[in-house]
Amino acid sequence: LKDGLREAEHANTVKSQFLAMMSHEIRTPLNAILGMQELLTHTPLNSTQASYLQTATLAGNNLMALVNDILDLTKVEAGKLDLEDIPFNVIELTQLCVQLLTVTAEAKALKLITIIDPELMPWISGDPLRFRQVLLNLLSNGIKFTEQGSVTVTLSSYASTDSACALLVEVIDTGIGIPEDLQAGLFEVFVQVDPSDTRKYGGSGLGLAISKRLVTLWGGQIGIDSTPSVGSRFWFTIGATVVAPEQSLL
Ligand code: ADP
Repeated sequence: LKDGLREAEHANTVKSQFLAMMSHEIRTPLNAILGMQELLTHTPLNSTQASYLQTATLAGNNLMALVNDILDLTKVEAGKLDLEDIPFNVIELTQLCVQLLTVTAEAKALKLITIIDPELMPWISGDPLRFRQVLLNLLSNGIKFTEQGSVTVTLSSYASTDSACALLVEVIDTGIGIPEDLQAGLFEVFVQVDPSDTRKYGGSGLGLAISKRLVTLWGGQIGIDSTPSVGSRFWFTIGATVVAPEQSLL
């Protein structure tokens, strides 16, 4: 039994490494394709050619997002993803994420609201890229699955001392909601509420699975409360060291 288990674990690691390598290898030519497509857009094109190019670019960008997701997932699973521990301003970063999605929200006439706890210490130490990745994923899902109303981001600290704090980030939408029996499974890979979601909304069902792995790696938790046709509240917590602004400048 022990031998069998060891073999299965080995096979699993080999599979993860293979996937990680493949994703990495696919990114290089894909970058070249996307780069050349970008250059093509700056050349004279008739309207049919421009529309073909637009479709190719959209598909290329979707493929790149998928490959990046697979790479992240396999890296976490192979234990190869290390979180950074550098000072960053969590309030500014949250506002930046909201700003990045303002145009998408406005296109659907949705209100994008940010609520920040005034007591919150803005400078913390952690991994700003991964914080941004999780928050952008929750925010873009909120916008994607909401047809009218609002998407609200709240940032608060539920336990803090002078040197450490526990952050709670919430993304609350007034969208389609998720039936209770399907909520827990959403953090598994390739799970979508409705199999036709990919066609209708795009996406691959990897975002929440990656978010869960990243938050867990950070020592935090992630969860959901949702009511169909009313909306959803996705939240995550992380613990962080508070840093003084002068330290962050250094
Ligand atoms: P993707 O959005 O790429 O499909 P995710 O892992 O981010 O992948 O989300 C998985 C599924 O969870 C989505 O396809 C959708 O069915 C559901 N979901 C996620 N966020 C929301 C939300 N805010 N409102 C309703 N459904 C959601």
